[in-house]
Amino acid sequence: METPSATRPTGPPTEAPSVGVHARHVEEVLSSLESSPSGLTPDEALRRLDTYGRNQLPPVAGRHPLFRFLAHFHNALIYFLLAAAFAASLLGHFIDASVILAVVLVNAIVGFVQEGKAERALNAIRNLVAPHAHLVREGRRIKVPVEEIVPGDIVSLEAGDRVPADLRLIRASSLRVEEAILTGESVAAEKQEAPAPGEAVLGDRHSMAYSGTLVATGQATGVVVATGSDTEMGRISTLLRDVQPLTTPLLRQINRFGTRFTWITLGITVALFLFAVLVRGYAWPEALIAVVALAVGAIPEGLPAVITITLAIGVQRMARRNAAVRQLPAVETLGATSVICSDKTGTLTRNEMMVRRLEVASGRLMVTGSGYGTEGRLEAEPAVNGLESESLILAGLLCNDAQLDQVGGNWHVIGDPMEGALVVLAIKAGLAPEPTRGDWLRIDEIPFDAKHRLMATLNQNTAGERCIFVKGAPDELLHVCTEQVVGGGTAPLDRNDWTARIAQAAAQGERVLGFAVKRAPPGCERLAFADLEQGLVFIGLAGLIDPPREEAIAAIEECHSAGIMVKMVTGDHGVTAAAIARQLGLGENPRVLTGHELDDIPDSDLPGVVAETSVFARTNPEHKLRIVRALQSTGVVVAMTGDGVNDAPSLKQADVGIGMGHKGTDAAKEASQMVLLDDNFASIVAAVNEGRVVYDNIRKVVAWTLPTNGGEVLAVIVAILFNFAMPMSAVQILWVNLVTAATLGLALAFEPAEPNVMRRRPRSVEQGLLTPFLVWRVVLVSFLFLAALLGIFFYSLSRGDELATARTMVVNTLVVLEIFYLFNVRYLHMTSFNWRGVLGTPAVLIAVAVVVVAQLAFTYLPVMHVLFDTRPLDVADGVLIISIGMAIMVVLEVEKVLMRRSGWLRH
Ligand code: ADP
Ligand code: MG
Repeated sequence: METPSATRPTGPPTEAPSVGVHARHVEEVLSSLESSPSGLTPDEALRRLDTYGRNQLPPVAGRHPLFRFLAHFHNALIYFLLAAAFAASLLGHFIDASVILAVVLVNAIVGFVQEGKAERALNAIRNLVAPHAHLVREGRRIKVPVEEIVPGDIVSLEAGDRVPADLRLIRASSLRVEEAILTGESVAAEKQEAPAPGEAVLGDRHSMAYSGTLVATGQATGVVVATGSDTEMGRISTLLRDVQPLTTPLLRQINRFGTRFTWITLGITVALFLFAVLVRGYAWPEALIAVVALAVGAIPEGLPAVITITLAIGVQRMARRNAAVRQLPAVETLGATSVICSDKTGTLTRNEMMVRRLEVASGRLMVTGSGYGTEGRLEAEPAVNGLESESLILAGLLCNDAQLDQVGGNWHVIGDPMEGALVVLAIKAGLAPEPTRGDWLRIDEIPFDAKHRLMATLNQNTAGERCIFVKGAPDELLHVCTEQVVGGGTAPLDRNDWTARIAQAAAQGERVLGFAVKRAPPGCERLAFADLEQGLVFIGLAGLIDPPREEAIAAIEECHSAGIMVKMVTGDHGVTAAAIARQLGLGENPRVLTGHELDDIPDSDLPGVVAETSVFARTNPEHKLRIVRALQSTGVVVAMTGDGVNDAPSLKQADVGIGMGHKGTDAAKEASQMVLLDDNFASIVAAVNEGRVVYDNIRKVVAWTLPTNGGEVLAVIVAILFNFAMPMSAVQILWVNLVTAATLGLALAFEPAEPNVMRRRPRSVEQGLLTPFLVWRVVLVSFLFLAALLGIFFYSLSRGDELATARTMVVNTLVVLEIFYLFNVRYLHMTSFNWRGVLGTPAVLIAVAVVVVAQLAFTYLPVMHVLFDTRPLDVADGVLIISIGMAIMVVLEVEKVLMRRSGWLRH
């Protein structure tokens, strides 16, 4: 274990993982892994990937397919149908019994296949947000998929990261790691690079960071000692992986409705059975067959499966528009969203920053150029002292983690875009980044966090002098500084002058950064916040431009027409935020509230204030949480974005928490229900749009399905009450339900957006699925169907047809009615008589074609005549049936117009 074996280039990963590694010196661990702080070469990494395999845990075996299949039989309705089949066979109706069994089987197969498809689609989307890690290979910082990490790799960690493999720490600064999933300990463990005692248990190995744990604070680098199932997590992984249930509140509501419906149906069935036998004098087998027809007609067995598919299609459409849904319920909630709280930087703006101005004590410098291009000059006012601007640019380069990379002639940034802009600035000023950083080695740092809004580094130059460089929100820095850099020396701080200059730059929409410096006390090895409280000397300001995204401007406009409020919640300066808000169209004079002001408002007054404010500036993550809560107390549905490690609480609190795919931390992504693949505000609005479409489509599926069942039930009840022959047999009803639900019903799941989808107000969350309008629709259409079915039935009997022919006419009429009604339902909010409406979607056309073929077979195939007791029909009857369908379509379109006129068709 201590020495690498002959056949393997490195030892630890193949044996009991990391045994003893925590107690050894870093140098020793590095050399046993044949690695160094500058990392592996890409070739070596590739070789090791071959040897050790990908850094992933074996997939969890889901439920066995057989069990998933059988689950489709576990349902009150199916038991009922099975009982009916049993009863039918007892009575000697073997054909009926086997048709019922066949239908049950086909129903289960369709459900099983569709559910599998939906599940696969959702998993594919979850993989879209596959995690990445920052590595050092050949001395360069790169970002690679976590799966490609190998033993010996050098990983850098920062707050919010999920540790991607088991690491022996090389350097740790204020590192604290939440290890609850491994050790059960809820307090984050402090970590450092010094070896831990050999006998230390997992929770006490302070020199290690284990795969799957979460970095709470600080920064670190470490060398990978184990990957994949060799990690500590790999050993217990089976405990952790949860399979997400494929369900949402809406789906549960529908399932509950379905169960209740089944029981009510059962009650009615028994009552009707007794009525038929005792009052009408039916023979009991005959009565039984009749009420079985009633029960199977009443129950919308295909509904839950079709709704699951509708949700899954919505999720896929959202993914195509760069919104990856992590939790299915978000699809529904998105459609009801009435407030979107969004970050500014990178979400509403492009996050392609450029330093435009520098302010130092003696004057101002303007910077030319565009984007990250390094062409550009610094144009200084005549009075500007070169020493002052040089120290500002140096501080900007050293207190900085970004690297500039040139790919195909284009410069791009690895790391924070704002820091990248400061590197570009240094190049424009003639300062070579890497050599300068080499001359000023970093000894320690305090990483940026959204609460303190600053970052500090401790550096040592070639002469052995140590300096602390600080950059951060200038208003905060001015609080702690008492002096400023003037020429080569210092002078008392002129706070008012700086405040005025900050306001001037911010009014232009510039993001303003302040810089300060301090000579470090001798023997200073570690940086702490206490070091920043005294003796900092203010150097000056940098103003950065970050233009708004064009698509965000359009998306905000769309939100306004859709009755959705947009609020900007940013850590940036109030004046900057207001200027950007104006450019984005968030109002001419948007009301701005800062975090400090927010602190002074009691909880009781907050909802009113928050509702009227559209820009929140200088906020920290706790403010975000208060804002979400206050908004929610007014009954609105809140979507909130977040990227930092401390944003998790507000993301969880929001109705839809939205994580950032690029700049977000793992912690924020995991707390959110949806992740934006492009960090773009416009993608949120696209997802809301799709969410509304999903909800519309579910309503369409329901509005279409229920009257079908209603018409069938009414026909059977009326037949028993008035004592005439059943217009359809039980198996014929089953046939209709099965054939149409799996085709026509499913086609509605693919409906595109109605044109006005983003011109309506958000739906209220209290509103149930069955609005008064929908109930009215279901009742009306059920009775229209009943009238048509009985009309054709008696017409056929009256001209002397046998019962079987009349029933065949009825079944065909019902299916034709459903086809025409489908075209009517496709537009709940407007007339269906338009070209798009008549031509339909491919899904609709395929569904109609399949149904037509099925009906022709049902009517004309001899085997169907045996199974379903059908008879062939004349062409003239076919024409008659189709005319009835068209007539009902016209009636329903007229009704839609009347409803819209009377203003009742809102919902
Ligand atoms: P935003 O809401 O715009 O994303 P942040 O929370 O990222 O705001 O930043 C808030 C403020 O903190 C910025 O206005 C800036 O002054 C400061 N800041 C941001 N990033 C850094 C950094 N990397 N180093 C130092 N200060 C920073
Ligand atoms: Mg930010």
